[in-house]
Amino acid sequence: MAASSIRIAVVGDVHDCWNLEQDSKALEFLQASFIVNADQPITLNAFKYLCSFLLILIGDFGDENVEVVQSVASLEFAKAVILGNHDAWFTKQLSGSEEKDKVQLQLECLGKEHVGYQRSDFPMIKVSVVGGRPFSCGGKPLFRKKLLSARYGVKDMDESAKRIQKAALGTPEDHFLILLAHNGPTGLGSSLDDICGKDWEFEGNGDYGDPDLAYAISLLKENNEVSIPLVVFGHMHKELAYGKGFRKMIVVGADNTIYLNGAIVPRVKRLGDEDKRNIDDESALPSPEAKGTRRAFTLVEIAEGRVAKIAESWVSVVEDRTTLEEELMLYEGS
Ligand SMILES: [Zn+2]
Repeated sequence: MAASSIRIAVVGDVHDCWNLEQDSKALEFLQASFIVNADQPITLNAFKYLCSFLLILIGDFGDENVEVVQSVASLEFAKAVILGNHDAWFTKQLSGSEEKDKVQLQLECLGKEHVGYQRSDFPMIKVSVVGGRPFSCGGKPLFRKKLLSARYGVKDMDESAKRIQKAALGTPEDHFLILLAHNGPTGLGSSLDDICGKDWEFEGNGDYGDPDLAYAISLLKENNEVSIPLVVFGHMHKELAYGKGFRKMIVVGADNTIYLNGAIVPRVKRLGDEDKRNIDDESALPSPEAKGTRRAFTLVEIAEGRVAKIAESWVSVVEDRTTLEEELMLYEGS
């Protein structure tokens, strides 16, 4: 019983901007509005649509913020998660003591939903998500080398690429494959506003993508092992350093592979503020005058096995009222 239409909500780099109650309301709204759009009564068909909502989180929940990761893990949506460099901000190697380090605690609460070097199949909706290298920081060096070696047996970029390739092999032929990584691949441009372009230094090669992810994609394509319609990542924030504007968040590459950067940071803004300033620490809220928030998600809609639409969507949550406040179209399929 495969759903023909699927909506995927991508949550960009969270950086502590997370509120279980408000994010749950926003996500339930995004799921329910998709059902309503589907123009179906609550019948078996609607049940199919209920099942056709997938949540993807691209990491950097905070600087090893275990509470946020536990909160995310408690959400009752089908989901796939990859941890980012900030999720291994302090932990450089496996803890030698009895006490569990925070990377361990985060991985334990996510369980199989953490897709680093693994594939997660969602047979109901015929989607598979393959994870790239956890804790990526972008660029040439392997970030948290000792952790990667101890946890995954990966010692260099080459091994890392082959682990990603291996995870993708065996993807059911009729599944829509999503590659999920914390940072995007090399080869998508070297300008500061390119999808993985370095925006904090202006000298030399500004392509700050992950070479292992690019290599894994080329291996998979070269041998025609699987087709890769969508690669989702974050890390490189939409808003560029030094007020230099905004980054390109989508690239349609060779073979029509769509590369999507979901790192809208900050992802939460307070409603009613003149300057719409961000909320660095939501626990500092809510004050009596708090008027609610607007929260960012990147929505991907898949119909008949192809990407039909991608949009940056801002959902406002004011007490029990949840609405789609703004939608910026990033891609529309033909
Ligand atoms: Zn990051």
